[in-house]
Amino acid sequence: MKYRFLIFGAHPDDCDLAFGGTALQLLKAGHEVKFVSVTNGDAGHHIMQPAELAARRKAETQRSAQVAGLTEYEVLDNHDGWLTASLENRAQIIRIIRRFNPHVVLTHRLFDYHADHRATAQLVQDASFLAGVPLCCPDTPVPDDFSVVYGFLCDLFMEPWPFKPDVGIIIDPVIEQKIDMVMCQESQFFEWLPWIEKNRQFDAAKLSEQEKRDHIRSGWLFRDEKNANRFRDILIEQYGEAGRNARYAEFFALMPLREEKDVAGFRKFFQL
Ligand SMILES: [Zn+2]
Repeated sequence: MKYRFLIFGAHPDDCDLAFGGTALQLLKAGHEVKFVSVTNGDAGHHIMQPAELAARRKAETQRSAQVAGLTEYEVLDNHDGWLTASLENRAQIIRIIRRFNPHVVLTHRLFDYHADHRATAQLVQDASFLAGVPLCCPDTPVPDDFSVVYGFLCDLFMEPWPFKPDVGIIIDPVIEQKIDMVMCQESQFFEWLPWIEKNRQFDAAKLSEQEKRDHIRSGWLFRDEKNANRFRDILIEQYGEAGRNARYAEFFALMPLREEKDVAGFRKFFQL
């Protein structure tokens, strides 16, 4: 059975970071993976102007999609920093879900430092039930075999409660390819993010290719390493001895949309 995975991130790098390693392995196994950036990322720079930046970031997503072999990487033309959980945006999300007809949809949690992440989380949760209601957005029909499981991408926030994963995916075999994907978002990882994090000494022009890769590994993928240690039990439960020794992993959790969580049913989509 081949599955379709639809991942909603607020910005044109969120899906790469939270789902890149899993996407690479699912794609290799013949599944389909589509990323959606709900904003165009046009606020994420300290020098470039919005329109020029949005075009550059769109091109970066398409390079990442090519590197990974993604089914599609769609970037919605909503302004970065100003996303709201509006009815219009909800309809946009419902239509995308129906057109792709996914088995699994994942997005951010509602607790997050960034307003766009929170709005994306709200929009996807608002769409989750209504995507199956034919009289909502009747211009885009609900597919006959429509059956979607919704879940969250992992984060490091501790309040009001920490992330509780239902499935973990070891990404050690594809970690270099995940770095290849993240490296495509150069306007972010080598320009904007060092600036906004007040790392004013950072100058990507002075770095070798290997130093750039190390910057991504230690500066960003430490999260996958930290989470592998944080949720070691779930890796051992799923992978046995290999789970004990894994270095990097990505984790996902079911959205609590029903009284009971079908964890076994959720995990079956991720069997690689
Ligand atoms: Zn983001």
